[in-house]
Amino acid sequence: MTPSATPAAARWPDGARWVVCVTVHMDGPAVEAGKGLNHLGIHSRGRYAARRGIPRSLEMLARHGIPASYFMCGYDAELYPALMRDVHAAGHEIAAHGYRHEGWELGGEEVELLERTHAILSDCVGEAPVGWCSPSGRKSAVTLPTLRRLGYIYDCSEKDEDLPYLAAIDGAVAEDFVILPNNTVSLDDAPLYVQGQASAAEALANWMQELQAIAEGDGYLHFIMHPRAGYGSGTPARMAAVDRFLAAARAVPGVRFVTLRELAAHCLSQPQSWRSPRA
Ligand SMILES: [Zn+2]
Repeated sequence: MTPSATPAAARWPDGARWVVCVTVHMDGPAVEAGKGLNHLGIHSRGRYAARRGIPRSLEMLARHGIPASYFMCGYDAELYPALMRDVHAAGHEIAAHGYRHEGWELGGEEVELLERTHAILSDCVGEAPVGWCSPSGRKSAVTLPTLRRLGYIYDCSEKDEDLPYLAAIDGAVAEDFVILPNNTVSLDDAPLYVQGQASAAEALANWMQELQAIAEGDGYLHFIMHPRAGYGSGTPARMAAVDRFLAAARAVPGVRFVTLRELAAHCLSQPQSWRSPRA
């Protein structure tokens, strides 16, 4: 393994040995709306997030005392403004995740959609989001410049590193914008349950392996859960697997749970350390 330039003890906030970021992608009816579907009947799994999955996640996180980053679509915030305010009032971060969960090329619409969702979320909870995650991974040349202009400080769409790093925007390394990558394949519930056809027990076993390896390695664990029915962890047995995973993470010495907003601010307070964290 290549030695890191920054000793682990100096890398994370408050001298933590490793950090865990819990992110919740609501993926409510916006997902179905983005596909042109009426979100009822077999297409109502996004509604489950609002009715049961998010309340269940809030109860679990409160029990563990863990702050999380909730990625919301503008369309879902328009449908469920009180729910957004409940999440925010519980101490969690509200971040942006598209208007109708757009995973397709947007062309000339993109800037307006980013601005629209930004305004909806800001007005809804009284605080502007500073983080964004692309629905389905799509980005274009205007994405990061637009987000930066709107005051965002991080993007967590990339899957190309095990550590944060400064973004390149308009051909230069930005010292005010950081990439917080995520390992979609093994620390995101959706691919495990959809492509992997995993059971909750298998997903948990996989996450436990990642936990041990990351706590002993680079120390940045970015976990993604969806509170939907269907491809997410909103339903009882799957939420119980997340619950056990987080209990195990809490038990590992030296851990600190941070929102992505806190982690981004930490990284940008010492940008020289994150220009190239393995240099
Ligand atoms: Zn999503």
